[in-house]
Amino acid sequence: MKRTERSWMYERKVGPYVNPEFEKGVDEFMQYVKDNPESSNPNEVRCPCAKCKNKRLWDPDTVKLHLFRAGFVPNYYEWMCHGEGFPTIPARGSNEYREMVFDAFGQSQDHVHSEEASVSSEEEPNAQAKHFLDLLKASERPLYEGSSLSVLEMAARITSLKCEYNLPHRCVDGFVSLLSEAIPNNNQMVDTFYEVKKIVKGLEMPHERIHACPKGCMLFWKDDAQLSTCRACGSDRYKQTSKGSLVLLNVLFYFPITPRLQRLFTTKTISEEMTWHSKNPRVQGTMAHPSDSEAWKHLDNYFMHEAYQKKVEEASTQGIQKSPNELYWETVGGRNKKVRVKGLGQGAELYYGNRKSSKSSQQYTPSFLPDARLDGPEGGAEVGGEGASYAE
Ligand SMILES: [Zn+2]
Ligand SMILES: [Zn+2]
Repeated sequence: MKRTERSWMYERKVGPYVNPEFEKGVDEFMQYVKDNPESSNPNEVRCPCAKCKNKRLWDPDTVKLHLFRAGFVPNYYEWMCHGEGFPTIPARGSNEYREMVFDAFGQSQDHVHSEEASVSSEEEPNAQAKHFLDLLKASERPLYEGSSLSVLEMAARITSLKCEYNLPHRCVDGFVSLLSEAIPNNNQMVDTFYEVKKIVKGLEMPHERIHACPKGCMLFWKDDAQLSTCRACGSDRYKQTSKGSLVLLNVLFYFPITPRLQRLFTTKTISEEMTWHSKNPRVQGTMAHPSDSEAWKHLDNYFMHEAYQKKVEEASTQGIQKSPNELYWETVGGRNKKVRVKGLGQGAELYYGNRKSSKSSQQYTPSFLPDARLDGPEGGAEVGGEGASYAE
């Protein structure tokens, strides 16, 4: 942990003298800054002293002097303003687009061989597996013999350029067909933007299209799903073309939260960040992450209870005998996790595994206290008697 390794940062003096550990540490810091320069000018070093607070740039000697005089700005254990702790960008060279496909489908690389093998047998692959395999093929197929670009990379980059510069559909069409003329024959380049979209389709995030008023007053949703004019301003939902067909005027793309979170967890580099708060120990009483807040703990506590109850029901419908401890560990995801579950008793075993109890060999019967306290911010405001109902 950086906090203990770098305790020297805030032990500047021993009596009236400069602490030799501090001096050594500052040299280490200066070396770090030299190895990871922020600017191409070596005389522009961000000063983390208590006065400059990482807001000013000086030459290295001045920074060093500042640190000896004023010490570091408080709580600067992680040298973030100097580029520390940010995820390193994976080296180019490996097939990034292939990895993107794996990330999007939450698959590991070893898994795919069995997938490919099972699909190659006579039966038709299901829609999702087919998307996945199509994308994998596109990520490996070069655009033309000898090209360093894959079909998928080309399609993904065209799509991203279209979004970035808000290019009109027909403009992209034009460029795509121009490109396919310009590159060698026998290429895999498609001619239209529609075809490009078909290649990347499997990667798209699940979403719902909800029609909206062209002026943005309301959504044609739920009870209003059948309306043809806006309830607030009376604008038409559709425009009639000269040929008589109806064209939609405005649409909202809604991205449900669950698949979005799932995507974040299946992406290799991001999933590490997503689970940071459960893996990194923190000093008691400090806020280092939103999960240290009461509101977050309250939410955890609340949903743990729901999850636990689900496990209990699952076990009873499947007729499996499981001890409350086993169910609890399954819910929180391991024996070493310490999460309070609303409605469960305060028995130490339920929270901390068997470490505390020497008589743990005997079956533990939980104390489902009817007046179990909710460990939320309001401590005891909500009384969960639910525990008692599944105690038998
Ligand atoms: Zn300074
Ligand atoms: Zn309206």
